[in-house]
Amino acid sequence: MADLDVAVAGAGFAGIYAVHAFRSAGLTVRAFEAGSGIGGTWFWNRYPGARCDVESKDYSYSFSPELEQDWSWSERYPAQPEVLRYLNHVADRFGLWPDIQLNTRVAAASWDTDQAEWTVTTDDGASVTARFFVSAVGCLSAYQVPSLPGLETFAGPWYHTSRWPADGVDFTGLRVGLIGTGSTGIQVAPEVAAVAEHLYVFQRTANFAVPNRNRATDPAWEAAFKADYRSYRKKAQGSFLGVPLTGTGRPALAEPPAEVQQALMERWQAGGGMPFLGAYTDVLVDRDANDIVAEFMRDRIRETVADPAVAELLLPRSYPVGSKRLCQSDDYFAMFNRPNVTLVDIRSAPLTSVSARGLHTADAFYELDALVFATGFDAISGALNQIDVRGVGGVPLAETWAAGPRAYLGVAPAGFPNMFIVTGPGSPSVLSNMVVSIEQHVEWIRDCVLYAGAHGYATVQAKPSAEDAWMAHVTEVAYATLFPLADSWYVGANIPGKPRVFTCYLGGVGPYRARCDEVAAAGYEGFALDRRLAMSSSIHPQAQLILDGIAAAGGPPFWELTPEQARAIVTANSEHIGAGPDVASVRDVVIPGQAGGIPARVYSPVPSAPGVVVYYHGGGWVVGSVNDWDASVRALAVASGCDVVSVDYRLAPEHAFPAAADDAYDALVWAAGELANGRPVVVAGDSAGGNLAAVTALRARDLDGPALALQVLAYPVTDCDLDRKSYHEYDGTEFLVNRRDMAWYWDCYVPDPAARVNPYASPLRAPDMTGLPPLYLVTDEHDPLRDEGFEYADRMRAARVPVEHRHYGSQIHGFFTFVNLLDDADKAVSEAGATIRAVVKG
Ligand code: NAP
Repeated sequence: MADLDVAVAGAGFAGIYAVHAFRSAGLTVRAFEAGSGIGGTWFWNRYPGARCDVESKDYSYSFSPELEQDWSWSERYPAQPEVLRYLNHVADRFGLWPDIQLNTRVAAASWDTDQAEWTVTTDDGASVTARFFVSAVGCLSAYQVPSLPGLETFAGPWYHTSRWPADGVDFTGLRVGLIGTGSTGIQVAPEVAAVAEHLYVFQRTANFAVPNRNRATDPAWEAAFKADYRSYRKKAQGSFLGVPLTGTGRPALAEPPAEVQQALMERWQAGGGMPFLGAYTDVLVDRDANDIVAEFMRDRIRETVADPAVAELLLPRSYPVGSKRLCQSDDYFAMFNRPNVTLVDIRSAPLTSVSARGLHTADAFYELDALVFATGFDAISGALNQIDVRGVGGVPLAETWAAGPRAYLGVAPAGFPNMFIVTGPGSPSVLSNMVVSIEQHVEWIRDCVLYAGAHGYATVQAKPSAEDAWMAHVTEVAYATLFPLADSWYVGANIPGKPRVFTCYLGGVGPYRARCDEVAAAGYEGFALDRRLAMSSSIHPQAQLILDGIAAAGGPPFWELTPEQARAIVTANSEHIGAGPDVASVRDVVIPGQAGGIPARVYSPVPSAPGVVVYYHGGGWVVGSVNDWDASVRALAVASGCDVVSVDYRLAPEHAFPAAADDAYDALVWAAGELANGRPVVVAGDSAGGNLAAVTALRARDLDGPALALQVLAYPVTDCDLDRKSYHEYDGTEFLVNRRDMAWYWDCYVPDPAARVNPYASPLRAPDMTGLPPLYLVTDEHDPLRDEGFEYADRMRAARVPVEHRHYGSQIHGFFTFVNLLDDADKAVSEAGATIRAVVKG
C-alpha cells in the first residue's frame, strides 16, 4: 500500500491549494517544496519592484468565501511581499503546514506499473510512494542565465532576479548592468536606477508596457466589492482570461478611428494590461487592428521619453503587441530621462563576453560593479524536466516531450498514469489569471482521483489519441491568433534549441473549464481507467459474517444438487434477510408472454408513482424467485419511489436460453404498455437478473421497443468468458459464486457453449452499444463478476452512453440483495433508488 494518496511537487499557489483540496477530500497528501518557505514564484522572485500584474481582487483564492472576506489587500496590484504574506496566511488559516515539507526538492518520480504507484525521490535521498503524483512546479520556475563567455571571471556580484538574496542587495553608488527587458527587467530597472550610480540597460528586444495606475485600496470600494464577491468569482471562472473584463465586444477595425483612439486612451488612463488589450475583439487576431494599438502605445513612449533617439530604440516593432507578455509599469519609460540611466542596444551590437570589470558588446565595453540578469525562464516544461520523471516502461518525460511538452487537456500526459500537471502544457495557464486556472485544475484533479477511488480503478491515464487530438486543437486555436508570430517564451524561442511549440490553450478559461467538466461527466472520456490491481480493502465484517454462516452450514455446491434442491436452499437463505419495508400496495399479476403467462409482482410504494421499474432477480437463471427477492425489491420500490414489477421469468435448465430473456422482454413490453401509461420505464436486475436487464435494454433498442430511461445493473453477468482476472481471484468455495458455479449456471442456461456468445446471452459481445439507455452500474470488489461489469461500463462509455458506476470495495457478490443484513446493501439500494427517482422525474 502506498505511503500517500497524493505526492505534490511544489508549494506555490498550486501546491498550497492542492494540499488543502486533497486533504479536505479525505486523501493523504504531502507537498515537497525546494524553497525554505512556501510561495513558489512569489518566494523566489523577491527582486525589488516585483509586483503582480493581475489585480489583487482577482489574483487570490476563491475556494473560501470566509478567506476572501477576511483578507484585505493594501493595493490594487499586490507587491511580492504582500502576496507571500497572503500565502503564509492561507497555510496558517487552513493548517496546511504539517503536509508541506520545505527545503526538499523532488529529484525524481517514477511509475511502478506492478504496484500502480509512484516512487517520489527527494534531493535528500529519501523516497515516498504515492498513488498519484501531481506536479505543481509552476510554469516559470526554471530560471535561465545566458551562457556568456567569461561570466565566471566577473569580479563583482551577479544576480538572477529569480534567485534574489533574501536580505536584498544594496546597489548604492554602484555601476550596474541589467540584461533583460521583459516583465521582470521592466520592474526591477527603476528600483535599481533610483539608488545606483549608473544603470546600463542592455536591451535585445524593446517591449510594450501599459501603466498599472497602482493605488492603495479604498476601504469603501473594498466593502462594496466584497459584498458581491461570489458572483464576481463566478464571472471570472466563466470568462476568457479568468478575469471578468468589459471590452467593447466589437472589432477595432469596424470603429471610427477617433473613437478607437479615445477608447484606448481611456483604458490607458485607467491602467492595466488585460482591460487595455481586451478593448477590441480583433487586436490579437488581426494584424491591422493590432497595429493600431501598437502605434498608440509607441506614441505614449515617444511622448514620455525626452531623447528621441532613446525613444526610438525603445519602440517595439518586431512582434504584434500582446503576442509577448504585455508588461506593466508606471515608471519604466520615464526612467530613461534620468541622467544615470543608459539604454544599450544589444540587438545591433550583441553581448559578446564578460570580463573581470564588465561587459563586452560587439562594439563597446561597459565597466560594471554588479550584474543583474532578468533573462527569464525555461517556461512551461523547464521545471518539470529538471525532475527525472519516468512513466510506463521507465520512459523519461523529457524524452516524451522532446518535440515539445504535451498533455491531454493540458493536465495529464499520456504514458504517465496517475500523474497530473497543474496548469500544464495545453491548458490556459500563463495566458490566464493563474489563480483561477490553478483552482480549476486542482479541483478537477481531485475529483478525478476521487472518482477513480470510488469506482475501484487503480490507474487513470490519458489515451495517446486523446492527447494528440487535444494538442492539435490547442495548436489550431493558437494559429488562428497572432501569438505564434512572436519569438516569445510562450513558444520556447528564448531557450536555444528548444522546439518551437505553442503550448497554451487560447480557447478561453470558461470554455476550457466546460470542456474539462464534460470529460469528467462522461466518466473521464479520453482516459483509460484501469484496475490492474485489486483494491486492497478486505471483505466487510458484515459480509464476512454471511460467508462464515454459509461455510458453517457446510452444504454441497449447487452443481452437485438438482435445480429443485438448489432453489430450496436459496429460499431458505432468503428467510434470513427478513421482511422488506412496507409499501402502499402489492399485487400479483400474470403477464401475457409469447410462451404463456409470466407471474410477476407489482410493488407500489405510493399511490401515483412517477415511473416504473421492471426488475429481474438474480440466481444464475436457475434459482431464485420473486418471493426470495421480496425484501430487496420492496426496498428498491421505496428508495426509487417507483412502481416495481418483479418478474418470475422461466428458469433453466427446464427452460433454456432464450426463455428467460424472452420473458424478461415480454414483461418490459407489458409494463411499458399496460402499466406505465406514459411514465418513464427503467429496467433493473442483479447478477443473472442484471444480465436479463442488460439484454432487455439491447432488445428494446434493436426491436424499436419501449424507450427506457435507465438500466440499473448490479454485478451483472455480461459475458460467458470465465477466464477473467476476477474469476481467478475469487474462485474459492467460500464465495457465494465461484467459477465452477458460474460454469454450471451457463451449462443450464445456454447448454451449447457456441451459442453463449449471442449478445442476448452475453451482452458484452454486442457489436454496437450506441443508443442504449444510460447505465447505472453497481459492482463489488470480491466478486468473480467484477471485471465483466467494469468492461461493460467501459464499452458503454466508449459508445457515449452515460454511465454512473458505484463500486463497493469491501463487498461480495450478492450483497445488493442483503438489505437488513448489510449496511452497504441498504446504502447501495438507496443510492440506486435515488438515481432512478432523479431520472424518472427528469
Ligand atoms: P522574459 O519575459 O523571458 O524576459 C527576458 C528578457 O531577457 C527579455 O528581454 C530577453 O530578450 C532577455 N534575454 C534573455 N536571454 C538573453 C540573452 N541571452 N541576451 C540578452 N538578453 C536576453 O522573462 P521575465 O521578464 O522574467 O518574465 C517572464 C514572465 O514572468 C513574464 O512574461 C510574466 O508572465 C511573468 N512575470 C510577471 C510579472 C508580473 O506579474 N508583473 C513580473 C515578472 C514576470 P528577448 O526578448 O530578446 O528574448
